[in-house]
Amino acid sequence: MRGALGGPRVLLRRLREVMAEPVSAQERLDKIVVLIAANMVAEVCSVYVLRVDGTLELYATEGLNKAAVHQTVLRSDEGLVGLVASEANPVNLSEAQNHPAFSYRIETGEEIYHSFLGVPVLRAGNTLGVLVVQNRARRTYTEEEEEALQTTAMVLAEMIASGELSAIAQPGAEPAARRPLHLVGTALNEGIALGHVVLHEPRVVITNYIAEDLPKEIKKLDAALAKLRADLDRMLERGDLGEGGEHRDVLEAYRMFANDHGWSHKLHEAVATGLTAEAAVERVQSDTRARMLRATDPYLRERLHDLDELANRLMHQLLGKDYAPARDRLPENAVLVARSMGPAALLEYDRKRLRGLVLEEGGPNSHVAIVARALGIAAVGEIANATGVADPGDAIIVDGANGDVHMRPSHDMEAAYVERVRLRARRQLQYLALRDKPCITRDGEKIELMINAGLAVDLPHIEETGAAGIGLFRTELQFMVAATFPRTAEQFSLYRAVLDAAGHRPVTFRTLDIGGDKVLPYMRNVEEENPALGWRAIRLGLDRPGLLRSQIRALLRAGGGRDLRIMFPMIATVEEFDEAKSLVERELTHLRRHGHKLPERVEIGTMLEVPSLLYQLDELLERVDFLSVGSNDLVQFFYAADRGNSRVAERFDAISTPVLRALKTVADKGRAHGKPVTLCGELASKPIGALALVAIGYRGFSLSPSAVGPVKAMLLELNARKAATLIEPLIESPTGSQPIRERLKTFAAEQGLQI
Ligand code: PEP
Ligand code: MG
Repeated sequence: MRGALGGPRVLLRRLREVMAEPVSAQERLDKIVVLIAANMVAEVCSVYVLRVDGTLELYATEGLNKAAVHQTVLRSDEGLVGLVASEANPVNLSEAQNHPAFSYRIETGEEIYHSFLGVPVLRAGNTLGVLVVQNRARRTYTEEEEEALQTTAMVLAEMIASGELSAIAQPGAEPAARRPLHLVGTALNEGIALGHVVLHEPRVVITNYIAEDLPKEIKKLDAALAKLRADLDRMLERGDLGEGGEHRDVLEAYRMFANDHGWSHKLHEAVATGLTAEAAVERVQSDTRARMLRATDPYLRERLHDLDELANRLMHQLLGKDYAPARDRLPENAVLVARSMGPAALLEYDRKRLRGLVLEEGGPNSHVAIVARALGIAAVGEIANATGVADPGDAIIVDGANGDVHMRPSHDMEAAYVERVRLRARRQLQYLALRDKPCITRDGEKIELMINAGLAVDLPHIEETGAAGIGLFRTELQFMVAATFPRTAEQFSLYRAVLDAAGHRPVTFRTLDIGGDKVLPYMRNVEEENPALGWRAIRLGLDRPGLLRSQIRALLRAGGGRDLRIMFPMIATVEEFDEAKSLVERELTHLRRHGHKLPERVEIGTMLEVPSLLYQLDELLERVDFLSVGSNDLVQFFYAADRGNSRVAERFDAISTPVLRALKTVADKGRAHGKPVTLCGELASKPIGALALVAIGYRGFSLSPSAVGPVKAMLLELNARKAATLIEPLIESPTGSQPIRERLKTFAAEQGLQI
């Protein structure tokens, strides 16, 4: 394209000068539209800015009636300008008036113009405004002109995002770029965080948009692309994980796109308009994001997402990695906002300053969610484009109980949350006061409360909660948060640290429970149609005993000179238990022969998670030293309802006749055999669940650390005998229409129990 002022590169250079001039925001905008119009030989150039109320206001124009500036306000779907904004796509027409969306405002005087080119002003995929050129003659704007206008819009995007326009905005109708937002996602960990945004991977602030030396920029881009491709090849060859912990198939997708000509062509085209290599990547990425936000087809969204991630990697190649936030120099009350994050990355941040986590991806079962729970930070996942709408330092509230995120909250909203935080803190203090009290019900029943744990960061919870020990140590978590298989020595040192932290209190280590929803990203995934019922946990351990044996060895060595408790997951038959137990015995013999210090005592038990064990209880209880009911899995198999599927989660209640009957049988049989039976599933982590369980005879639980306070507070007020008297007839011969849960609620209200 040849414009009056010498093409897009000259335009960009002139724009840079205008951006640096010490003039008011309005003057700057006025100069910009004049420059663009002249450069593109257009009679009109106008800038519309998206406002908090969702409308588009004319902020500057060259060619239209100047009196319309700040007066013309369009609905977000009104006319061609609205179309550009809502679709986040350019509209290029030689005869605008024939377009069905065409409408004009008389005050602008635009009815005499025929051709129209409008492009969205985008930043990280969000529309901030619309930039338009118009001509009286019916002309077709070339593809290069369209490209050039989009490039110019990037400069405007930075200006709008900087907040400079607020000074000339009408009160209550400021630019939408920095408006308060209420976003709703998936609750990952309860808790409320009031803090400030820290982007896990900060958007690169590009200071240099305009290429000085075009061939040099192309060379830079090509070199970065080549390096990106080589890195992906290497990772795939070596079977490494991605830096973000991506699985193999994701890396395969990246590689495919990195070699895709369309993508690289788009990047080159953007450089050709006069952008630096990094600005070209940002432009293409912003378009991708805009498409991603609008895509309804999940497959397409996934692919656009891959492209977006690839652009991030390319940006890393171009600019180096030193723009990552300093992990150890976080601001106070930091709330991390990330696209996705591996569990190990989260552990690298300074825990003391970290209050919350917001992810664009990340469901409740994601590994990073597990770590967030262990760290006790409020966390919300599945917030679309969180990284696109949050700027570093923005005020943010994360409500992890409901999955709410308030970005740049209003004063009222903030005040309401401050009050809720105060209430929570008061409750926490009350729980803390109970920490050293023995857990005995009003009628003298002693209930043992332990905690569930799985990572070194969980260990302080023993002291904090005053728990009697660790009733379930999920050893697979160490494997899940690692980038490669933890070696036996690493397993040993974690187990030793756990036993040291627990001191005289018992710890029950559960052997690896992988498979099902617990995938190890570095392990080749076996495709299974029904992974929850597939090759997982002890099944995998018995079929490939090498892994299980080395884990058992690490456990036995870590427990040298102390008492050790080992428990197997997903046992379905007594024969499986015998086989697993014999592995422990073989390892004991092996270690004894090699002169290692052995544990004083090894107790071996099993989880009860598979309903088949309910019909082998006598044989099983003769063999085990203890039983721990895993109600999360047991209930999912009992009702054949996936524990992670929200469509069926509400359908069946664990506090119901069939489940409680089964659980009571287990408790009764355990007592008859003189073997301890406890429960470590989530059921016991809710006060009402613990109430039901005590009522049917359970006297020991392993809980999420945050549940110890509320459950203990309830138990200290409980009369267990009365609860048993209420519940026994209900589960023996259920009568009446009120569900057991409702009866328990009424009972709790009558007895003054907080559930
Ligand atoms: C359970 O299934 O109840 C249990 C405690 O194990 P996990 O939640 O680790 O599967
Ligand atoms: Mg389980």
